[in-house]
Amino acid sequence: MSLAEQMDTVTEDTAGTVDRHATTETFDSTDPGSGALVGVFPVHDADAVQETVDRARPAARQWAELGWDGRRQRLTAYRGYLARRLNELADLVHRENGKPHADAILEITLAIDHLAWAGAHARKTLGSRKVSAGMLAANHAAYLEYQPLGVIGVIGPWNYPVFTPMGSIAYALAAGNAVVFKPSEYTPAIGAWLAAAWRAAVPDCEDAFQVVTGFGETGAALCRAGVDKLAFTGSAPTGRKVMAACAETLTPVLMELGGKDAMIVDDDADVVAAADAAVWGAMSNGGQTCIGIERAYATSAVYDRFVAEVTAQVQKLRPGSDDEASYGPMTMASQTGIVRRHVHEATSAGGRVVRGEADPSLFPGEHYLAPTVLLDVPEDNVAIREETFGPTLTITKVRDAEEALELTNTSAHGLGGAVFSKSKERGLDLARRMRSGMTSVNSVLTFASIPALPFGGVGESGFGRIHGEDGLKEFTRAKAITRQRVALPVNLMSFSRPASATDALARVMGMIHGRHR
Ligand code: NAD
Repeated sequence: MSLAEQMDTVTEDTAGTVDRHATTETFDSTDPGSGALVGVFPVHDADAVQETVDRARPAARQWAELGWDGRRQRLTAYRGYLARRLNELADLVHRENGKPHADAILEITLAIDHLAWAGAHARKTLGSRKVSAGMLAANHAAYLEYQPLGVIGVIGPWNYPVFTPMGSIAYALAAGNAVVFKPSEYTPAIGAWLAAAWRAAVPDCEDAFQVVTGFGETGAALCRAGVDKLAFTGSAPTGRKVMAACAETLTPVLMELGGKDAMIVDDDADVVAAADAAVWGAMSNGGQTCIGIERAYATSAVYDRFVAEVTAQVQKLRPGSDDEASYGPMTMASQTGIVRRHVHEATSAGGRVVRGEADPSLFPGEHYLAPTVLLDVPEDNVAIREETFGPTLTITKVRDAEEALELTNTSAHGLGGAVFSKSKERGLDLARRMRSGMTSVNSVLTFASIPALPFGGVGESGFGRIHGEDGLKEFTRAKAITRQRVALPVNLMSFSRPASATDALARVMGMIHGRHR
């Protein structure tokens, strides 16, 4: 029986494929499109979480002792397993998260690519290397290596339930840690599937990746369970609670939080390409994308053409649950109200709505939102300032790209962003000066699909990095080692050193550094 079929057969007694521990309370996971039951899962309490972390400890040691080759071989087996069951997992993602099957395929594909990169680059990035010992310690050899932390707690969101947590899980495992993952309460079946897949693909170290399920309290218990680092992806308000809980035990944290990403469309931009990218960046996944484009700033030279092109493209979009749908329902029902409030506040403040021609009464349910483009929204409006996380896009006319950059950078968030310009120099210059962790020029979201590039934000969007070499190092501690190669006649760090030695040292320093003014 496939893992997805097992999910359909769970009862209150079996509580899915997740270890129930002594927990008796359960919760349901449902299809956000149809309301159908996807699975029943335990609400793991603090004891269950602690048991899981305790079980991960010896697994972390065993996993670390496997070495680079042993871990790489098993990570390869895991990605092979995922790739062979790509359609099965995509079907589960479609049912539990609501996104179209094709988008689920794309998401899982990216996650597999990151797994491959992390496994292949761990040794080169983290393994022991010799560094220059410098003049003062020239008789020593100096070594640097990055050692695993132990057990990493990962708390994830629901919007990209495979790709987003895998950005922490894959890199933490590749760096030699064990992982305990608490998926969102909206996507526990996907988290349970990923852990069951690990057990099937890596049976000789199955406790290196485990899952606990539940709501915020289960996540809070994971923060307090003595993990060696907590990688959190979610909203800023929850991030603050996670940091506060982790502060109690001085547990270090990685914060991947929300965004309000902007696109700058410069005078010389390819307007059709920019509009296509803006519509995808804003509306794909129903706008429930942390690095989704929520604001566009177009210069007065291109504004009219850009608005016309975006409007034309948006009219072709249709939310739904079928294979032809552009995007699915709002995964979290309560988000529907937030999106509607932002649109209402924008229009109350004088904003104009350019909506597609689709008639919302034809949508399959109330949680399917029409793509909505908002013009002339004041900069101090919530629709410009706060994360909307729905299929909306504001377009604002600006004098030039400098004004666009200024408005982009006034946001408290700073996750990603995009620039459209035909000039390579100008595009890169604007990208560099954009206050965000990632910017793509002449495309959207591309940085997330390049495993070698670090992913993370500034300001309210969080700190720390997943992906790339920085993402591997995030789950390690740097270890410095020196080895004396030859003893010098005079040892400066000994009570036996002659008084003249430091006088000579002072003269040498004067000759080498003292000439610089
Ligand atoms: P959320 O903050 O509501 O929940 C995230 C996770 O935290 C869930 O698993 C939840 O159960 C858990 N949680 C809730 N309260 C907790 C507590 N007190 N202690 C510990 N854990 C707790 O976020 P969400 O609605 O699941 O996800 C959407 C948000 O995630 C958006 O803001 C989005 O921008 C952000 N996001 C960021 C990135 C990124 O990489 N920066 C990626 C995806 C999503």
